[in-house]
Amino acid sequence: MIVFDLICASGHRFEGWFGSAADYASQQERRLLSCPTCGTAKIERVPSATRANLGAEPPKPPKAPAQPVKTADMEGKDPFAIAQMLYSRMLDDLLTKTEDVGKDFPNEARNIFYERTPGRAIRGQATTEEHDELVDEGIPVARFPLPPKNGLN
Ligand SMILES: [Zn+2]
Repeated sequence: MIVFDLICASGHRFEGWFGSAADYASQQERRLLSCPTCGTAKIERVPSATRANLGAEPPKPPKAPAQPVKTADMEGKDPFAIAQMLYSRMLDDLLTKTEDVGKDFPNEARNIFYERTPGRAIRGQATTEEHDELVDEGIPVARFPLPPKNGLN
């Protein structure tokens, strides 16, 4: 047996096993080879990586897929902890870049939207009804649940 590393026109690499180099050439000529990924018959040999196998061993299974990349501060943490960490960073950002207008939020949001007051990022409380009214008026607001530890509710 002989193994050729093959590559298709779309760049997918795979191995082909043939009885001989002539066998490969013959199959290639008759377009019997096709890419297992995309099915194209436009296949070429990767010239530098050929090797011979004398038939004693079966083909090796493909390598296991690479592990997903992890960043250092996520190492060893469960997905829930990672989500909490990202949420907490986002929250810090929100709290330091917005002005707290408290229960006046619906009024202030309208004033800003209708340019009766200087535009800025605000946060505060609104009832579901008030929130829906703002949305109906086309005012861009986002509901953001604050965890109790921030003491803002
Ligand atoms: Zn392909």
